[in-house]
Amino acid sequence: MKIICIGRNYVDHAKELNNPLPKMPIVFMKPATALLLENKPFYYPDFTKNLHHEAEIVLKISKNGRHVEHEFASTYYQEVGIGIDFTARDLQDDLKSKGHPWEIAKAFDFSAPLSKFIPLASLNDPININFKLTKNGTIVQNGNTKDLIFSFDELICHISKFFRLQIGDYIYTGTPAGVGPVEIGDTLICSIEDKEMLTCEIK
Ligand code: ZN
Repeated sequence: MKIICIGRNYVDHAKELNNPLPKMPIVFMKPATALLLENKPFYYPDFTKNLHHEAEIVLKISKNGRHVEHEFASTYYQEVGIGIDFTARDLQDDLKSKGHPWEIAKAFDFSAPLSKFIPLASLNDPININFKLTKNGTIVQNGNTKDLIFSFDELICHISKFFRLQIGDYIYTGTPAGVGPVEIGDTLICSIEDKEMLTCEIK
């Protein structure tokens, strides 16, 4: 199983970090050891002083495939969940400024809390999914997948040119604006269409 993540896939988020808009999806990965399941708490790591939450809709891959054609892309996922792409922003900024890979800032242990999954078919409109992240009860991120720069299907096509998709892989599809720091004692709750899906306490 692999976790594929997409950077800068919402215009408002790319702008808030003063990043240019990508011409093709920005792809990075996290290892299986990054997963944090079952609403387990997250322990603030000692290698960062600026840990950010990034709430993201996550696809679960339901079919094996390479070089997927656009017209078949939607048959490769049937379920969605919501996850957090925890990012050590201070480390990431330093690595980016040097042109270095950013794995230690993004792919560290438990950096990918993930909810349970629900069938896409259970949602009103699979390309118009509202989702949000609250921190201590206040909404800080509020997104809708209609604002994706690269749609789910475009991501499937692009990713599968480089990486064979396998059943059980996850795709974190990018975060909307509102990313920001978390502190010990915070409680993050992620929802899809007002249904609470993921709770993450920072310890
Ligand atoms: Zn992200």
